[in-house]
Amino acid sequence: MARIEVDQVVKRYASDTIVDREASRTRPALNSVSMAVADGETVSVVGASGCGKSTLLKVVAGLEYPDAGRVLYNGTDVTYVRPQERGVGMVFQDYALYPSMKGQGNLAYYFQVHDRTEEEAEQRVRETADRMGVGFEHLLGRVPTTLSGGEQQRVAIARCIVRDPQLFLMDEPISNLDAKLREQTRIEIRKLLRKFAITTLYVTHDQQEAVFMGDRIAVMRDGDIQQLGSFDELYYTPANLFVATFIGSPPMAVLPVVVAGGEVVVGDLRWRLPDDVRPAVPDGPVRLGVRPEGWIVDAGDGAVLRVRHRERIPTERASFLYGSVGGAAVAVATAIDFPDRSEVRVTPEWSRAYFFAADTEDPIHLPGVLELF
Ligand code: ADP
Repeated sequence: MARIEVDQVVKRYASDTIVDREASRTRPALNSVSMAVADGETVSVVGASGCGKSTLLKVVAGLEYPDAGRVLYNGTDVTYVRPQERGVGMVFQDYALYPSMKGQGNLAYYFQVHDRTEEEAEQRVRETADRMGVGFEHLLGRVPTTLSGGEQQRVAIARCIVRDPQLFLMDEPISNLDAKLREQTRIEIRKLLRKFAITTLYVTHDQQEAVFMGDRIAVMRDGDIQQLGSFDELYYTPANLFVATFIGSPPMAVLPVVVAGGEVVVGDLRWRLPDDVRPAVPDGPVRLGVRPEGWIVDAGDGAVLRVRHRERIPTERASFLYGSVGGAAVAVATAIDFPDRSEVRVTPEWSRAYFFAADTEDPIHLPGVLELF
């Protein structure tokens, strides 16, 4: 198994026509990306469509060569080593099992093309089937068309594991499955990843899936990694406003406010900052970020939240109230027995508030990692 390093990788496609969001200039698909994945670790790579996730995966696999930068496996430069020689197992959205072969044949195929003995193939397939867990054995006797999407994905994963890969690369492996099956399959995949402890890069556009799968999560945007960290790091100490609003559901509310003399001015309302926060936030325009659990409901000096929609979360014995404050979309988490009202007053709980610079969107003051309960 391997420790993976991506070192200042730049990748431009020949038809490089990607237009930057802000300026009318092109940018590379990967814009000097660096990251390190520890041996046995699963890192989720998440971001909107087109941000460079698949390109990053392909460069790590050797399916694309970078224009600059290096890829290292266990400290060895493999940037220009062919994919077949890297010992990488890949699972993509379309399962790409060999359709005419049963599960058994799909798993054994690698040994045939590499001129290994039938005995070795059989033994490895049997071991892998055992390790894949209960119920896997019977998939070996079936052709892919008779398997459900989830079952095909299990066979695809086993086909990677049987070769004892250094590294697992998964690109949206369950996005073809329906919601119920997706839930089951992602639990299954996570169990397998933890059990086999194979270094894994897991690409998804879905932040909840990324959080569920990854030991750490890399948030990408426009060919850059904005932040790579654990869920707590991304959630409580985001690198910028983009990461702050990307991670968390419902998302953080972002209020454009002005700070003056230790007070936060929102429209005609003024909130006095507490003594421990005041010195950290300079006067001027800032972005105030408040997560759903960061509001105090029915406080004396609260802003009026007109409740447009209420979503009940019975398992949490809570509800989300959706509305707006100072023109910004706001979600407020509150106890479920909260009376159904069209208006409540809300104030940020300042120990949970986030402040970002209005221009650069860099953090000015963050809550730091908090205990959830
Ligand atoms: P993601 O996986 O995050 O959706 P990709 O890595 O597939 O993003 O793509 C990153 C950018 O590179 C996109 O703008 C995409 O259009 C462009 N791109 C990807 N593959 C090619 C290619 N083979 N040729 C030209 N442009 C490409």
